[in-house]
Amino acid sequence: MEREQLKDGHGRDIRDVRVSVTDRCNFRCQYCMPAEGLPWLDRSDVLTFEEIERLVTLLASMGVESVRLTGGEPLVRKDLPVLAGMLAKVPGVKDLALTTNGYLLERDAEALVASGINRFNVSLDSLERDRFYQLTRRDSLEVLAQFPEAHPIKVNAVALKGVTEAEILPFAEFARQHPYEVRFIEFMPLDADRSWSSEQVLKGAEIRAVLSAHYDLVEEPRKESATARVFTFANGEGRLGFIDPVSEPFCSDCDRIRITAEGNLRTCLFSIGETGLRGPMRLGVTDDELVAIIRDAVWRKELKHQVGDEGFVQPERSMSAIGG
Ligand code: SAM
Ligand code: SF4
Repeated sequence: MEREQLKDGHGRDIRDVRVSVTDRCNFRCQYCMPAEGLPWLDRSDVLTFEEIERLVTLLASMGVESVRLTGGEPLVRKDLPVLAGMLAKVPGVKDLALTTNGYLLERDAEALVASGINRFNVSLDSLERDRFYQLTRRDSLEVLAQFPEAHPIKVNAVALKGVTEAEILPFAEFARQHPYEVRFIEFMPLDADRSWSSEQVLKGAEIRAVLSAHYDLVEEPRKESATARVFTFANGEGRLGFIDPVSEPFCSDCDRIRITAEGNLRTCLFSIGETGLRGPMRLGVTDDELVAIIRDAVWRKELKHQVGDEGFVQPERSMSAIGG
């Protein structure tokens, strides 16, 4: 059943949903989780596959066509390929992607591709074993060897001042030698340790300045609602992306919403409030009632984030609990 397009109160059509399938994770990245982990949700509080399928079906009926599975670490959720297979069949879903730290990718990649995941984002902050360990608190650079071969893969590296400078040129060479777009993401105030400061952000422009001394980079036209500015090397070999939410916010045509592992709708990474969907679903609301709850929450989507503005309040939840 097709419904009217999902829109916010600022005239933006919503076409993309990030679904967190778990808040648990097997890494402890410095910029995301504390070393000791976080108090995990009870399993009964996490949405079931059928509940996620229902929400995605309703969102797709309102014009949401792109679904990204995330977490926590999505591959620690048991039977994730089964969920992927269910979502790939939802009418209207055109793009089904996964963001992962890659640790379990070797085990699951084939099953995920077979079940309909058509794009992978693998988070990889360093090509150096020691720095990888320092950042993720796991000695697991082997994730590099586990990338599935034939699928579009983006490699995401969080860019931290005083750390990532040493990775810029190695990552540029990596992007030239492999069919992976490497994207640098500015560090955002979504760390569980709440130690973020603007001085720790290595800005995209600073990285591009380093690169421009070594390479000719050509910027591609920006696609509507894209998070990244994408550049190719002038000789055509390799692509680099820059996600610069802190220094160059891209909120004005944001088409994204998020569903947390326990079924709360978030209309912005930096939302202070959330709308519970699991409660109404378990109380037996009809699809039309659920659609009305979603539309009402989305209508109030934030115009922009306030990072860097006076009075900015860091959300209580950190990235792994939100579903980055
Ligand atoms: N565990 C999976 C992973 O790491 O790819 C999926 C969830 S993780 C929260 C999603 C993305 O958010 C990763 O690329 C991670 O690097 C990024 N991330 C986490 N905390 C961040 C922060 N404070 N600032 C910027 N990006 C962050
Ligand atoms: Fe886990 Fe991803 Fe957060 Fe790292 S960034 S701690 S892998 S959820």
